[in-house]
Amino acid sequence: MPSMVEGPEPTGDAGLRARAARVIPGGMWGHQRAAAVPRGYPQFFVGGEGATVEDADGRRYIDFMCAWGPIILGHRHPAVSEAVRREQERGDCLDGPTPHAVDLAETLVAMIPHADWAMFQKNGSDAMTTCVTLARAGTGRRKVLAARGAYHGAVPWCSPSLVGVTAEDRAHLVHYRYNDVASLEEAVAQAGDDLAAILVSAFRHDIGQAQELPTRAFAAAARAACDRTGAALVVDDVRAGFRLDLGGSWERVGVRPDLAGYSKAIANGQPLAAVTGSDRFREAASRLFVTGSFWYAGAPMAAAVATLNELKRVDAPRVLEAAGVRFRDGLMEQASRHGFSLDITGPPAMPVMLFRDDPEAALGEAFCLEALHRGVYLHHRHNMFLSLAHTPAVIDTALAATEGAFRALAKSRTA
Ligand code: PMP
Repeated sequence: MPSMVEGPEPTGDAGLRARAARVIPGGMWGHQRAAAVPRGYPQFFVGGEGATVEDADGRRYIDFMCAWGPIILGHRHPAVSEAVRREQERGDCLDGPTPHAVDLAETLVAMIPHADWAMFQKNGSDAMTTCVTLARAGTGRRKVLAARGAYHGAVPWCSPSLVGVTAEDRAHLVHYRYNDVASLEEAVAQAGDDLAAILVSAFRHDIGQAQELPTRAFAAAARAACDRTGAALVVDDVRAGFRLDLGGSWERVGVRPDLAGYSKAIANGQPLAAVTGSDRFREAASRLFVTGSFWYAGAPMAAAVATLNELKRVDAPRVLEAAGVRFRDGLMEQASRHGFSLDITGPPAMPVMLFRDDPEAALGEAFCLEALHRGVYLHHRHNMFLSLAHTPAVIDTALAATEGAFRALAKSRTA
């Protein structure tokens, strides 16, 4: 029921939360609800510019979450904004795809060595579900292997939550341990002659855990198992895609998948996902019926072409890695000087920061809140994301703030 109180509705964070509690179940859903970030963090945002975001109370932060991945060039990058504006002025949602669908497919096929073709969706869950359906269509088999704890989307066949999910939804899902060749082989044997696909994350990025890059032995074993059985090797590059290697994240371990799913950074914040595949799955892909009302819109595809061209032009993975190393080394030095044992794991452009002996991440949460109060938006359990707007000067400004945060944390520990 709308509020009967006279006067304008509150627009600041607290007011918005109160209004949301009345009309949005639980106040907010999913990974961007306030319960997913440290207590004391804002829920609502009103703007972003370069490396910063602005919350609904008008406070600005240096943003190390980048919308949880999509922002890779920086918020409101001019080349992307211009591409979006141009498409929206002409009509973005039409009776069929725009020429940008072909431009973008050509761009991806030229950029990604395993890709002979591409198809587009909206979200990472769409892309990964399409990969699974396609692997089943192409092989005529049912079993799908996924690493225990890996995130592939918020749909019943793979959601980390079992709320509303039936056993039948995951009847053909078999788990293995990431980077564990023996456990992968065991799962392959269990699937027998019904193995349709092996799903692998770009690297192990389970929430609240130290991150692990794939070993060459694990990557080679996954490729060999698929070659031996005829199953599809599927890399979930939704989160890491275009930050680590423009040709696909497993180029770094010398293994090419049959299918890969992308989303997040592909269009610098515009809603888009992609599946790329090899010729082996082209015929099955052409038989598949996958679609959505908004899957053909031109602006996100034009935004993606602009984003990918810019990433190529500046050799983004190299720049992002350097920015990540500067940030990680700075944080590690500060932590040790202030007497904290901190682990920062994973690729520098997507670091996870975990305090040692902090199983509930309470110390991590307290540190993040101190950093927030000094103008830096971090995460205590999920991997963070760097963008090209995180220049050395921006990193150094952030490090000046985290220095204060460590000092405050050290003081409260001894108080
Ligand atoms: N796979 C991975 C590795 C992801 O990180 C995510 C999103 N966090 C997804 C799939 C699902 O993407 P989306 O939320 O866009 O559906």
